[in-house]
Amino acid sequence: MPTLSDIEAKVSRGERLVTEDALFLFNHPDLLAVGQLANRVREAKHGDRTYFNKNMRVEVTNVCVASCLFCSFAKLEEGSPGAHTMKLEEAWRELETRMDDPPSEIHIVNGLHPGLPFSYYEDLIKGFKRIKPDIHMKCFTAVEIHFFAQHYKMTYEQVFEKLKAAGLDSLPGGGAEIFHPEVRSRISDDKATGAEWLEVHRIAHRMGLRTNATMLFGHIETFEHRVDHMQRLRDLQDETKGFQAFIPLAFHPDGNGMKNLPAPTAIDDLRTIAVSRLFLDNFDHVKAYWVSSTPDVAQIALRFGADDLDGTIVHETIYQAAGSTSPQGLSYAQLVRLIREAGRIPVERDTLYNVVKEHPRAAMPEAAVKVKDRKAHLHVIGGAS
Ligand code: SF4
Repeated sequence: MPTLSDIEAKVSRGERLVTEDALFLFNHPDLLAVGQLANRVREAKHGDRTYFNKNMRVEVTNVCVASCLFCSFAKLEEGSPGAHTMKLEEAWRELETRMDDPPSEIHIVNGLHPGLPFSYYEDLIKGFKRIKPDIHMKCFTAVEIHFFAQHYKMTYEQVFEKLKAAGLDSLPGGGAEIFHPEVRSRISDDKATGAEWLEVHRIAHRMGLRTNATMLFGHIETFEHRVDHMQRLRDLQDETKGFQAFIPLAFHPDGNGMKNLPAPTAIDDLRTIAVSRLFLDNFDHVKAYWVSSTPDVAQIALRFGADDLDGTIVHETIYQAAGSTSPQGLSYAQLVRLIREAGRIPVERDTLYNVVKEHPRAAMPEAAVKVKDRKAHLHVIGGAS
């Protein structure tokens, strides 16, 4: 069994943590000590820089043949109450109406609709690119890509070739949930397995697409399952170097098959961010996704290992369906303020982490100025101790 000092020494030497270290950190009672260690790694990688982007979520259909226990978003059949599939013009209008201050990225995830032609997805991407040729299309989880391959009888490579030709630029990290079969078979047994999810990303990376990776935590999984999940991601990243960010997603229970479980607490959220920052040494970025953890907790997470807040989002519906109390979108100014008040430097990025605009550091908050002045005063009158 390691000690915290052993792990601190490993972190100082830049040595990779092993499973036992991560489990020790998950179980350690002193959250602040774990967070401080993660913060050291975060600051060594990024200093105070904290990333966000101007993005927009579009969910074109919630019709889905799968039945994940944790999902409050999907409806089984077209025509059932609440089921909705956008006409292409309706989806494109989401961007057309925002062209006065357009996003740099469109992030699309959907249910697994059995009745749409594959050309619907190609045309969807092409239409957004027609409206704004430089928009970055981050579309379709690995679960959707796997479904496309099965449903339209293609290999993963063929699916990617067609979608890239239409304008696909990268893949989001959703659908990962928990890879371990003990958990996955109970919460989502009728969609891509953990191995299939990883294979889709392996091929995406080989074909030059950057991707993200998520982990849905705080339901029936154990800490061992979380570490196993991160280990599989770390192994693939060693092989391909194609992941950009790791994004822990807090489970929300409203309106789904696990509504009897409590949602994870803020402490669990912060600890998971911190441990992932320490364990995933080959991931450049750990994202505090404000939609899943609330803007308040995401802001605090910027001192617990996270260096990215995601983006403006504009119109999120998946977590809203699961009872999230987070707003559906945040303004650019709100994101800048959250980051500045955490004592960090806001950096607007594009999807591939190229810097769009670096904002100046915040002036010192009024309370801190008063403390500083008082210290200077005491120094003058206090003399030499
Ligand atoms: S999580 Fe995705 S695959 Fe599972 S039921 Fe919901 S929309 Fe379908």
